[in-house]
Amino acid sequence: MKQYTPMMEQYLTIKAQHKDAFLFFRLGDFYEMFFDDALEASRELEITLTSRDGGDERIPMCGVPYHSAANYIKTLIEKGYKVAICEQVEDPKMAKGVVKREVVQLITPGTVMEGNMLDEKENNYLASVTSFEDGSYTVAYNDLTTGENSIALITDGWDAVLSELYNRPVKEVVIASDLPESHESDLNERLAYTISYQDEVNTDDAFAPLLAELQQEKYKTGFGRLLNYIQHTQKRSLDHLQPVQKIELKQYMTLDMYSKRNLELMETLRKQGKKGSLLWVVDDTVTSMGARLLKKWLERPLLNRKGMEERHEQVSGFLEQFFEREELREQLKSVYDLERLSGRIAFGNVNARDLLQLKQSLGKIPEIKVTLEKFSHPSIKNLHHSLDPLHSLSELLEESIHEDPPLTIKEGGIIKDGFNNQLDDYRDAARNGKQWIAELERKEREETKIKSLKVGYNRVFGYYIEVTKANLHLLPEGKYERKQTLTNAERYITPELKDKETLILEAQEKSVELEYELFLTIREKVKNYIEDLQLLAGQISKIDVLQGFASVSEKNDYVQPNFNETRLIDIKQGRHPVVEKVMKDASFVPNDVYMDDESDVLLITGPNMSGKSTYMRQLALTAIMGQVGCFVPCEQANLPIFDQIFTRIGAADDLVSGQSTFMVEMLEARHALANATENSLILLDEIGRGTSTYDGMALAQAIVEYIHEEIKAKTLFSTHYHELTELEDSLERLKNIHVRAEEYQGNVVFLHQIQNGAADESYGIHVAKLAELPDSLIARATDLLKEFETGPKYEVPVNQADEEQLTFFQEEVRETNNKKTQATESKLIDQLTNLNLMEMTPMEA
Ligand code: ADP
Repeated sequence: MKQYTPMMEQYLTIKAQHKDAFLFFRLGDFYEMFFDDALEASRELEITLTSRDGGDERIPMCGVPYHSAANYIKTLIEKGYKVAICEQVEDPKMAKGVVKREVVQLITPGTVMEGNMLDEKENNYLASVTSFEDGSYTVAYNDLTTGENSIALITDGWDAVLSELYNRPVKEVVIASDLPESHESDLNERLAYTISYQDEVNTDDAFAPLLAELQQEKYKTGFGRLLNYIQHTQKRSLDHLQPVQKIELKQYMTLDMYSKRNLELMETLRKQGKKGSLLWVVDDTVTSMGARLLKKWLERPLLNRKGMEERHEQVSGFLEQFFEREELREQLKSVYDLERLSGRIAFGNVNARDLLQLKQSLGKIPEIKVTLEKFSHPSIKNLHHSLDPLHSLSELLEESIHEDPPLTIKEGGIIKDGFNNQLDDYRDAARNGKQWIAELERKEREETKIKSLKVGYNRVFGYYIEVTKANLHLLPEGKYERKQTLTNAERYITPELKDKETLILEAQEKSVELEYELFLTIREKVKNYIEDLQLLAGQISKIDVLQGFASVSEKNDYVQPNFNETRLIDIKQGRHPVVEKVMKDASFVPNDVYMDDESDVLLITGPNMSGKSTYMRQLALTAIMGQVGCFVPCEQANLPIFDQIFTRIGAADDLVSGQSTFMVEMLEARHALANATENSLILLDEIGRGTSTYDGMALAQAIVEYIHEEIKAKTLFSTHYHELTELEDSLERLKNIHVRAEEYQGNVVFLHQIQNGAADESYGIHVAKLAELPDSLIARATDLLKEFETGPKYEVPVNQADEEQLTFFQEEVRETNNKKTQATESKLIDQLTNLNLMEMTPMEA
């Protein structure tokens, strides 16, 4: 057994209870860390590592000053770590032996409240994933900063859990310690969440009402785990937690993880952040509450037609009146983040300046109501009814909070005169005293005839009378008591002066104390309005998102989409909302999309870089924008309501490793085939590219056939296998389209125009030429191409259940009536079938 000092023993005991956090151990003006914590923290925070004596070893140690700890904590939290704050909980002077210390707060990435650690345009979710024996899961969310709570029940397996979580601003996930390891590593590595364990799910009585509303046991377990963890880390008031919303996944369009990523809804594939994403294009909100709501909407496009149309109506109402909308935007800009403010009020984290901002925000509400009433569209005009300016709260703040309060709440200067009689009396006393002192200077000067006599104040001696050395002889004997000697002057006090001083200081002290108490009572009163404030915040956010939609729709020429129940897609002159924005020197070429009863699958051919995947993505993005409630980038749109969107779109970085690319491709395809319905949209870009030609082509064809026959989902399928265009003859609801490209003086010119029918030429070599591959190489490829074109052609076999499996020679087989020939041929076929092509040289073949 090692022998440590009692303090180190205390440290080790506390550290043992917080193994997964950095323990910030308060020692005087520092938070110190020891052992492994010290080694790691010194690296992560770039602070000096020292050591202290620990008997026969040196204990590694490093520390951060108490007053600047916030920044260090922030750095650790941003890196995904947790920090346990351990304070001295008794006065060191009173302590017998080692001062008592306790962990007073556990700060974790999912539970931070401090404004400087949060992105204001993003929620900060703590999630919890619970698995049940029947293979279902719950995913529960809490945002401590806004009090928002929600939970979803997922019955489609683990992948659906990942899809649900993907893209959401989750910072930390709470799990039971027996969650399968592969699941844990998905959460930790693929989604990069900080993991926390919580096995207990029985919560405090305080949360009973919150849980009771959830009814079903699974929800209670899932949410109970989350609540338990919050309680364990926070150790403080949680009054602002809102009722738990059940997320009915069936009410929203399902976007799996692949689609969310491939369609670049929230960020680009290369993770360069928001710029270049759909969010980037449609976000014209002016409040951070609005920005957060917009993200939620984009994550869950609606399925409910009424809900969508309601949003479109409102966007159109906002769109009609530019000036009023601009006025509204200006007003919204001065509305503070009421949602996060409510959270901080509940936590007792607000100061007088926050309350002042609250007052100013509430003061804007009546103006906003007036502006809303100026809109002629009833769906906007009527919105003003939903905004309650909370007059009584405004009045309270108006009467009580000083217009220019300090940041601290313990130094006075917060409460207005006239709010409280007692406070006014103290203040009068202090003021009168001060006046008396000012008067004293005049009186003393007169009596002593010393013109330079001064009355001053300092913290150590209080009020004093100062006389320069040259004038000392003018002072009468006995009246003054010397207190302090300076080089040129002496400072004196009189009993009378000290009496007044006591009075003033007492009055001041009492008034500061009383101000603090009053402030706490006001803060308590404000707490009663939390629910109203949350409601108001919700309305304001919604108005903000909708005006933002109107604003982007106007700037970018979007139109209101119509929806049909006949699975018709009819888009006139559609555009890709992001590509058209980032194109600098050229202008975007709009294209129609038309798919009626007779077309479920569009097979798209055309050279690389001609715009195939852009065309596919723009359809998906248009559908999502429409179902979110925004207008859409085209001249006219009639769309079905898609229940799900699936994508297999190659990412540039996929090309790095052939094998895994192909596996990813197949996984994404399987996911689509397993889940799509006839009301879904499937985008498959160059499927089969990741493997050898025939292999890939065979798979591509089989997939198209399967979708066409079994799923019947609306599908866009791009391919560079020209052979597949022949499928148009055998698959009734498959249509060929191609992207037009023209040759101009031996080079390809991309026109980005979609046309009916199959592309008839391969432009690969021209593209290679554009890419400036060596001339000799281009010439060789051209020769080879000619050879291939004159050689035997691969024919697309038709899929018919009663055919022989080997359909390679089916036409010939059918044409032959001579039984003998047939026999020889089938022998030949047998031989061919048994050849192992993979092990043959080209010559043998
Ligand atoms: P493909 O999938 O055929 O290889 P992409 O869809 O990736 O081609 O498009 C390649 C580039 O062509 C895009 O990055 C874009 O700059 C441009 N492009 C695509 N479609 C259009 C269009 N309709 N109008 C203008 N430029 C386009």
